Amino acid sequence: MSSLIERESRSVMQTYGRTPVEFVSGEGSWLMDDSGRAYLDCLTGLAVVSIGHANPAVAAAVDRQMRTLVHVSNLYFTEPMVTLAENLRRLSGLERTFFANCGATANEAAIKLARRWGQNARGDQCYEIVSLADSFHGRTLATLAATGQPGKQARFAPLPLGFRQVAAGDLDAMMQAVGPSTAAVMLETTQGEGGVIPLDVDYLRKVRALCDERDVLLIIDDVQAGMGRTGSWFSWQQLGIEPDIATVAKALANGLPIGAAMAREDVAGAFQRGDHATTFGGGPVVCAAANAVIGFMESADVLGNVSERRDQIVAGLQALGGVRSVRGRGLLLAAVLDSDRAAEIAGRALEKGLLVNAVRPDAVRFAPPLTISESEVEGALERFAEALGG
Ligand code: PLP
Repeated sequence: MSSLIERESRSVMQTYGRTPVEFVSGEGSWLMDDSGRAYLDCLTGLAVVSIGHANPAVAAAVDRQMRTLVHVSNLYFTEPMVTLAENLRRLSGLERTFFANCGATANEAAIKLARRWGQNARGDQCYEIVSLADSFHGRTLATLAATGQPGKQARFAPLPLGFRQVAAGDLDAMMQAVGPSTAAVMLETTQGEGGVIPLDVDYLRKVRALCDERDVLLIIDDVQAGMGRTGSWFSWQQLGIEPDIATVAKALANGLPIGAAMAREDVAGAFQRGDHATTFGGGPVVCAAANAVIGFMESADVLGNVSERRDQIVAGLQALGGVRSVRGRGLLLAAVLDSDRAAEIAGRALEKGLLVNAVRPDAVRFAPPLTISESEVEGALERFAEALGG
């Protein structure tokens, strides 16, 4: 391991502060390091490997597709992509999809679509995106401009124009910000990177109503919260709102890079041929993987497990000394501690064989596999209790 750290430090751009563990394999809710030690994965690569490591259904679909057809570009038709678009339409109610390669590029597509729609609907001056403080939408320049975290933007000026942020939950501020130049409001229903902060349902409904009133689009960034993570296929489906555009990525192909921007039929129509494109988007292998993910989730009642395991984890965490409260929806959760020692506790959890992360100085994120079993949750809670206990 020390030689790997040294090799990495000489050859890889130093943009990450990595934890000194080398993982070599995974199965279900478990990861194995290079010394053969097993860890319970309650982070799933940041809400990505939702149906477990080395999921056999996904592995078989990828293997089959790799041996059949890997890439032809978007100049031609391929079946896995169309099937995935149909699956997403059936599950989300949003009629059309543009396939991207990750969360940020899905959001780029959503932003570009909103700008095209704004131009058509209200002219060239209608391009602004209003997003929220503490949001996270990605690290490309436009998605960074939409991200409400000044610390991440600071060293990359000038950012693209046409973005502004208001405080989450402040409806008056939103009403002031949305004007004739606003094409869309963009938000996460639960702010993941911002600290696993679930936005108030009443606020979300009022923002939806405001968008309707002022003829502005609502973009829901479901990159982290989508694909069953919060207990419904998409986060908004339990909140009584519907977006005009929504994005997913992370868990869509259970670990292979994919992103998707979905939109209502009339909004999607704002994109004309040639308006947007990407070489890899919608490739047969990632789309076959995503179709396998959806098939697995439907046949194994994964959403049912999310609600049972959520109740178990929340009750278990709330009973632990040192945990002040638990927040989040479904299996996107944060244990809020009684002091700013989340990084220290996450470090100790790792020593006990449990992966979680400090999402705020006082909050530890739990994003376990949606397939995690009852006894695995028990094991995770025991390890976390030990970590808290010192
Ligand atoms: N949007 C949200 C809500 C996210 O949580 C993330 C990543 O954490 C992104 C966008 C960016 O996704 P990616 O890292 O795949 O570009």
